[in-house]
Amino acid sequence: MATQVLIVGAGPTGLVLAIALARRGVAVRIIDKNSGAGQASRAMAVHARTLEFYRQLGFAEVVLNQGIKIEAIHLREHGEDIAELPLKDIGAGLSPYPFVLAYPQDDHERFLVAQLHAEGVDVEWNTELESFTQDEWGVRAVLQQDGDCHTASSVYLCGCDGARSRVRESLRLDFSGGTYQHQFYVADVQTAGPPNRDLVGHLGANTFALMLPVRSRGMQRLIGILPEDAPPEPDFETVRPVLEPLLGIRVEQVNWFSTYRVHHRVAAHFRVGRCFLAGDAAHIHSPAGGQGMNTGIGDAINLAWKLAHVLQGRADAALLDTYEAERIVFARKLVATTDRAFQLIVSQGAGGQLLRSWLLPHVFPVLSGFATARRTLFKTLSQVLIHYPDSPLSAGRAGDVIGGDRLPWLPSDNFSALQSLEWQLHVYGRTDPMLAAAAQALRLPLHAWPWSEDAAHAGLLENAAYLVRPDMHVALALPRQEADVLQTLATRFALRFSRDS
Ligand SMILES: Cc1cc2nc3c(=O)[nH]c(=O)nc-3n(C[C@H](O)[C@H](O)[C@H](O)COP(=O)(O)OP(=O)(O)OC[C@H]3O[C@@H](n4cnc5c(N)ncnc54)[C@H](O)[C@@H]3O)c2cc1C
Repeated sequence: MATQVLIVGAGPTGLVLAIALARRGVAVRIIDKNSGAGQASRAMAVHARTLEFYRQLGFAEVVLNQGIKIEAIHLREHGEDIAELPLKDIGAGLSPYPFVLAYPQDDHERFLVAQLHAEGVDVEWNTELESFTQDEWGVRAVLQQDGDCHTASSVYLCGCDGARSRVRESLRLDFSGGTYQHQFYVADVQTAGPPNRDLVGHLGANTFALMLPVRSRGMQRLIGILPEDAPPEPDFETVRPVLEPLLGIRVEQVNWFSTYRVHHRVAAHFRVGRCFLAGDAAHIHSPAGGQGMNTGIGDAINLAWKLAHVLQGRADAALLDTYEAERIVFARKLVATTDRAFQLIVSQGAGGQLLRSWLLPHVFPVLSGFATARRTLFKTLSQVLIHYPDSPLSAGRAGDVIGGDRLPWLPSDNFSALQSLEWQLHVYGRTDPMLAAAAQALRLPLHAWPWSEDAAHAGLLENAAYLVRPDMHVALALPRQEADVLQTLATRFALRFSRDS
């Protein structure tokens, strides 16, 4: 079959996009200029929203078994533990995955490559995008493979090619923002003594250092700021004398050490004609909160079902405009919030003051003592709060749920129905026969859940209906089960809710 989507870049964003498209029967090619999956385990934190997507795709449990659930944050000062924040089940009742998972990016990428292979698609390594052109019929890309140039035609092209994206540059899209002055290091090391399973952090004047466990290798991941007087070619010995006492560790073996600079930028657009940007190609920001990779995976999930619908004649091409409309708003907000958090942590001299004058007396006691405060922290970090209220696909309000919100999860597990990766209607309470008839006419699967205290607690409304998109977001929140609105939305985007309607 001719290629429908050419994906440039087999990082986490491109791999998830390829899996989600292949699962839907789209003919996809994915290329990467590297010779194999990434060796550098950059992202460690996998958040609940990503695991929810992985459950839809059928592999959340395997990922869980390969990572470590972080149970606590330990804060240190002057070589001593001074505060502990329990994280175990911090988001209980909000998600089937109420925790933060530590799972290194290189293991993660290798896992995704294998999942993609199981879908019948292999990454074409050592293959670089050189250039491309597009017109009303499609995209023609020039690829370089082992010194030879080939052309490749596709209907759409997705640039998942990271921060220095050639796709973005070729589209001449502005990528404005800035670069932080500090230089950071990241290392995987073996420490003496029993393995640590928590997040350990030190915030000091002009410095910070973090340690997280890497399960597959029994190693620890270290992240911090290089000292200002570091030599031009720093190695682990540059940071060892300061780092070991700060974190209270002795490093016996260094597996990997690297330095990097952090940028904060968002592309002016995420779509130009038949070309899309996703992941770091579209937005980059500080690692504060471990959001970058998770956001790229969220982009991929948002884009995949829309591309599949349009390619399979299930929706008008206007559906594709909602990708940028939905994702760029979140990217801009994320870059601004991670920027503020990061400035607070690393600004000159602020580290010590931050810890002593603000975090310890004010924030930590609140977070440790009150379940509500910890839930708020979880909601913010886990990405379960990402919503698209202004999207043309979103409308209505029923209870606390507004069109565009992620469907709230109930402990009775209303997410089990979402593994179909298809549109569906949810009713919590009694189903109006008119709605049932309308759903049947539209071939829209209807799932009715008994009304419950949990449903009320989650903000749902008794006897309301919720039209749920393939990516678990509520499109329409219908307090009175208004059936006509379903048809209105379907007509607006020439949508077919079911594959076989
Ligand atoms: C130290 C550090 C810690 C981090 N921690 C976290 C964390 O805990 N949680 C989190 O969510 N995020 C974290 N991040 C961010 C995360 O690593 C990135 O957001 C993520 O890698 C982005 O994935 P991507 O697939 O969009 O891009 P990338 O991973 O950059 O992949 C892009 C791919 O495109 C390929 N490519 C580029 N150009 C071409 C071309 N012309 N032709 C073919 N192929 C091409 C590259 O070879 C590469 O494989 C961290 C980042 C750093 C640096």
